Amino acid sequence: MNVPNLKEARKRSDKPVLYKEEQLLYSNELAGKKYFLRTYGCQMNEHDSEEIKGILDFLGMEPIEDMESADVIILNTCAIRENAHDKVFGYLGRIKHIKKERPEVIVALGGCMSQEEHIVEEILTRHPYINIVFGTHNIHELGNYLLNCLPGKQDIEVYSIEGDVIENVRYKRDSKITAWVNIIYGCDKFCTYCIVPYTRGKERSRKLDQIVKEVEALKQEGYQEVTLLGQNVNAYGHDLDENVEFADLLEAVAKTNIPRIRFVTSHPWNFTDKMIDAIAKYDNIMPYIHLPIQSGSDRILKLMGRRYTKEEYKELYQKMKERIPNVAITTDIIVGFPGETESDFESTLDIVESCQFDGAFTFIFSPREGTPAAKMQDDTPLEEKEERLRRLNERVNYYSRLNNEKLLEHTVPVLILGQSEKDASKVYGYTDTMKLVNVEAPKETIGKIIDVLITDAKSFSLDGKVKEPMKVS
Ligand code: SF4
Repeated sequence: MNVPNLKEARKRSDKPVLYKEEQLLYSNELAGKKYFLRTYGCQMNEHDSEEIKGILDFLGMEPIEDMESADVIILNTCAIRENAHDKVFGYLGRIKHIKKERPEVIVALGGCMSQEEHIVEEILTRHPYINIVFGTHNIHELGNYLLNCLPGKQDIEVYSIEGDVIENVRYKRDSKITAWVNIIYGCDKFCTYCIVPYTRGKERSRKLDQIVKEVEALKQEGYQEVTLLGQNVNAYGHDLDENVEFADLLEAVAKTNIPRIRFVTSHPWNFTDKMIDAIAKYDNIMPYIHLPIQSGSDRILKLMGRRYTKEEYKELYQKMKERIPNVAITTDIIVGFPGETESDFESTLDIVESCQFDGAFTFIFSPREGTPAAKMQDDTPLEEKEERLRRLNERVNYYSRLNNEKLLEHTVPVLILGQSEKDASKVYGYTDTMKLVNVEAPKETIGKIIDVLITDAKSFSLDGKVKEPMKVS
């Protein structure tokens, strides 16, 4: 049994990363079995679930919506906030009940939570009906773990090992229009509030030619958009022998001529001029950057270990605005970090006023066991934090709407992703700047980039109609 260990997870060794091909061994023992998969958290987890589905599909298993009838139940968990943790443990109550009725059901817990030491201890002592606990590093082994769990074989197993980079993964992607492409795994930044460097391990970049090969294959399959994924995309390449950085990767991917390229998430600390220039230079790199600031107070930024000041962030922000035509910038903000005073919070409001972000994901600080911030003194009552969040959201939503209103009566390119759930006469999609638009257009436009005239603007979405004559690309 290989149980995660927080102290070990913090270490960053010089041990070279191994690059391996995914090798799935076929066995028909699971063919025809039904699986239920539930995914929590970020795009990284959604994409990991596409890998899980690819493996189960390869073994002849079939997805099912009804957990009660499943032969295999898999939860792909998230560790970023307390409520995600609570939701998973809430769900386990239902699963325990199913296991009582049908002990042959295999239950597997994966994702970031399963890489947390205290969670695995809790599972071993209080939830022994879970058969497999696997990490984010060893998803490619899931097929073997499941086969080991069949009746008469091993019972509970915990797998948590530092990761290699696995190539040629057989994803079962959720969309035929947009695709996620991993470029770098893990994080070495160790922001004091964040559990990711412990759960997802050290930064490991994929080789540039492998990423380009994957994007080229996606383009051949007709994909319109790729999103390059990493906890910290602009750290890409620093661990490779080849002398490449994120800007080189952006250029190489742009040259595949896939219609749209996005990337997420960027750290302000690593964002170079060369990256800004690459985004500005290629029409198929979308003018949209998610650039988390987290706080506008230098004192709090320091406590968070973010490695930039408010002024440095502002300079970077201005540079992006000046050099990338029509760029939209969104951010993440944490309120109520331990020790945040009213004056610290006002510095956050101040940067929101000066940057006028296109949008922001805002959160109340959530302590993650084992991180330095969880041990910091936190005297601010929850009600005060909630009030700060309310004040912040009011300003964030104001600027979000203001930026959306700037598009009124303008024509913008929109990649149509599907039919509107509320109104069958409408489809929905995203502008190049990542704004959601509901469009009066036939469903034949799904999967196409069309010119849309914006007719209405709200805080979180736009309305539009097809610009006649319809231009489709
Ligand atoms: S950069 Fe900071 S917040 Fe982002 S994943 Fe790494 S440690 Fe967490």
